[in-house]
Amino acid sequence: AANPSAQVTVQVEGKSVTFPTQLYINGEWVNGHGTPLKSFNPATEELITAVHTADENDIELAVQAAREAFETTWSLNVAGAERGRLLYKFADIIEANLDTVVALEAADGGKPLQWARGDLMASLAAIRYYAGMADKIQGFTCEVGDPSKSVTVRKEPIGVVAQIVPWNFPVMMWAWKIAPALAAGCSIIFKPAENTPLAALYLTKLMEQVGWPKGAFNLLNGTGKVVGEPLALHMDIDKIAFTGSTAVGRHISACAAKSNLKRVTLELGGKSPNIVFPSANLQEAAKWAAFGLFETSGQSCIVGSRILVHEDIYENFVSDFVKVVEKIRVGKDPKAFYGSLISKVQFDKVLNYIEIGKKESKLETGGARHGDKGYFVQPTVFSNVNMTHQIAREEIFGPVASIIKFKDEKEAISIANDTTYGLAAAVHTLDASQMARVTRRLRAGTVWVNQYSVLHPNVPFGGVRQSGVGRELGPNGIENYLETKVKADD
Ligand code: NAD
Repeated sequence: AANPSAQVTVQVEGKSVTFPTQLYINGEWVNGHGTPLKSFNPATEELITAVHTADENDIELAVQAAREAFETTWSLNVAGAERGRLLYKFADIIEANLDTVVALEAADGGKPLQWARGDLMASLAAIRYYAGMADKIQGFTCEVGDPSKSVTVRKEPIGVVAQIVPWNFPVMMWAWKIAPALAAGCSIIFKPAENTPLAALYLTKLMEQVGWPKGAFNLLNGTGKVVGEPLALHMDIDKIAFTGSTAVGRHISACAAKSNLKRVTLELGGKSPNIVFPSANLQEAAKWAAFGLFETSGQSCIVGSRILVHEDIYENFVSDFVKVVEKIRVGKDPKAFYGSLISKVQFDKVLNYIEIGKKESKLETGGARHGDKGYFVQPTVFSNVNMTHQIAREEIFGPVASIIKFKDEKEAISIANDTTYGLAAAVHTLDASQMARVTRRLRAGTVWVNQYSVLHPNVPFGGVRQSGVGRELGPNGIENYLETKVKADD
């Protein structure tokens, strides 16, 4: 198929938005030589636009540009304070164009506008957090046995980094990746998900107003196979940061291992447990359980998709929870709690899991498509689920809750940890010693108490076990982009 024009004007969420569709390499918008990608609005099933994608040679040019910038105009040649200033300036420019980015994000991802806006605010907070950290990267000196000598330990940017993100939070995942990398002084080759290429194109256009050295930031659209994998295998990329499925994360790790042992950080899937004990405020627990599962139509790696409830309160909780869930509004209007799934593929996959659930357990509410246009799915709740059921073991990535009964604390912990994942978990209890015991034993990167899905840029986020490697956000997030160098004088 022929490439779309270099720049398009599209109507999204009642706004007319103009942005480039090309690749961004070495500070220039250039034609891509791969097969163009089509981007659809999943809430309307309508085509928004096609965008250029990279081929092997385009990838090579982007890596060379990133390397050149790293060695010359960027990185160690630009003071931390200046890197921070550029990021602060960028955040201000995004904020001045917020409504446009929100509209693109909402249309490309099928989200209600107010949720896209929330994602944007969180993204700005992350950019500003790392802007403030750019001039606070510190090493140390250490004594080495001889009082006349000492060793200096520096933190230096890793080098050229590739960053690959999924479609569920296109802008937020972009911000979590580019902000710490640019604050550290790395140069970047960024690949959005093939379903959601638009916001990154517009944001790159805004980025041009900031004044980064050319090559510090490069944007390549394309599929995982054609663009993602060559980045993971490239011999001149020093690090790859990935968010997406566990299967692809495992593959990226293998590509890094068999090429140049580039550094790898991974944020992968989850099947997070949300445990409700009898002492909890049940109404509150039901609200948090619904919030922590149905946000973004359940298409988030942290969703509490396994709700574990003590047998003494099981019936009451199920009935409270179903009442909360039945009030959830699905759609794209300002009162909607969640929008559509991202694609026909996800829609079919989720509906298939719902059919499996109907055979395995008891359907309490939902269980079907919502409306007849767009990939909307009703909030769906299954009870009488146990850990032999497929819907309790596999990541569905849709608005589907599995409620599992447990008899005591020990069994709750054992069911909670009976998964290969370990991204998040939550405990609802008003018993302080139980809270301390259970949070200690849960194998997860984040354990919320009497709440769910509360993230903050200052707080490290990531998974244990097969949910990931490394942490984003907080001080840990920038460490992923730094190497330790020792200077030992004679
Ligand atoms: P995915 O893992 O296939 O895609 C994520 C990103 O990786 C995309 O940018 C994609 O182009 C890229 N990619 C795919 N194959 C690649 C390869 N071989 N080498 C390098 N990069 C590659 O995720 P998906 O297909 O969009 O969704 C499938 C499932 O992944 C979902 O159902 C869900 O379970 C999970 N998922 C998890 C997250 C998360 O935040 N942890 C986000 C999206 C999807």
